[in-house]
Amino acid sequence: MTELPSPLRPATRLVHAGQTRTEFGETAEALFLTSGFVYASAEDAEATFQGKLAHYQYSRFGNPTVAMLEERLAAIEGAEACRATASGMAAVHAALIAGLRAGDRVVASRALFGSCHWIVSTLLPRFGIESVFVDGADLGQWRDALAKPTKLVLLETPSNPMLEIVDLAAIAALAHQVGALVVVDNVFATPLLQQPLALGADIVVYSCTKHIDGQGRALGGAVLGRRTWVEEVLQPFLRNTGPALSPFNAWLLLKGLETLSLRATAACANAENLAEFLARAPAVARVWYPTRDDHPQAALARAQMSGGGTIVTFALRGGKRAAFAFLNALRLIRISNNLGDTKSLVTHPATTTHYRIGAEERARLGITDGVVRLSVGIEDAADLKADLAEALAASA
Ligand SMILES: *Cc1c(COP(=O)(O)O)cnc(C)c1O
Repeated sequence: MTELPSPLRPATRLVHAGQTRTEFGETAEALFLTSGFVYASAEDAEATFQGKLAHYQYSRFGNPTVAMLEERLAAIEGAEACRATASGMAAVHAALIAGLRAGDRVVASRALFGSCHWIVSTLLPRFGIESVFVDGADLGQWRDALAKPTKLVLLETPSNPMLEIVDLAAIAALAHQVGALVVVDNVFATPLLQQPLALGADIVVYSCTKHIDGQGRALGGAVLGRRTWVEEVLQPFLRNTGPALSPFNAWLLLKGLETLSLRATAACANAENLAEFLARAPAVARVWYPTRDDHPQAALARAQMSGGGTIVTFALRGGKRAAFAFLNALRLIRISNNLGDTKSLVTHPATTTHYRIGAEERARLGITDGVVRLSVGIEDAADLKADLAEALAASA
């Protein structure tokens, strides 16, 4: 096998890293759509199970196509090891539960993806794990919460949907003082715009469903971290509980990664452009976009991200009535709770993604009834603006 030159830049790693070719010399990544593997002899089977022979055993434990995805993701993230899972939530669940036990304490930022919030607030306490929430942007709250021994910290930055920024380096330093592992949900930033491991995080999780597939086709997730943690803590949990990624979905995600840099660059440029357009619209009370001057944490966002991302959040002056009229008047941009797609998608968080957390928690997070989350795709910005302008007019 020809070794790749090193070091390679991110856009090149996205296309080439992790590929293993078979004897046929195929150009594209091979799809090993197989549940099991055969052994040349009973002795080989025995040696494999004894760990003396490197041989795939069963696709719940490992699969060559899934392994190519894991290697490519690790190469992009600069992580020692990666395991892929069937969904982003399977990745978050595994990253948390694999190493926790009764009596442990977890501290998390409040502004988490809905299901991540549920795991921390509802599932973990059922098993005797204490969970504490803090406002992610408030260093004082983190300092107080991390004054006690803590096993794990979970945070998301930028957060969904208000694009709040958490200071990764500062939180990692505080967490490490009390022995906590720092888990970062890096979905909104993508591996290209923010590298949490370089800023001190221990574990990074992804929903590959979002920008990594980015074309609305497949669910998937990934957990990245140090090799010893992945092999000794995470792998036994995954192997024995089975949230395995389908090889077919792994193959789709590998092909998704090849164009991630092009898609993310185009979508970020569109998002910046649309944020500016929306900020000037009279019907819009306020716009949130991480790297814009009017974002309260713009300096921090610019320091830890190399771009603002593909999501723009804004508040309409007319509340829920205006938001619904706006959504219903859009013709190109479609209503969907998914994000990170080539197609621009819009959602009303208060009645969809953040409906279940309740009015009180929404108020605490700043998710008012006029708030709209726009996931910006790669269409021509002029067409997106025309659609937004028409719907804003209809919402008044
Ligand atoms: C979508 C998402 C998840 C969950 O991923 P799934 O692939 O839908 O299971 C977790 N965190 C964030 C920030 C997300 O956007």
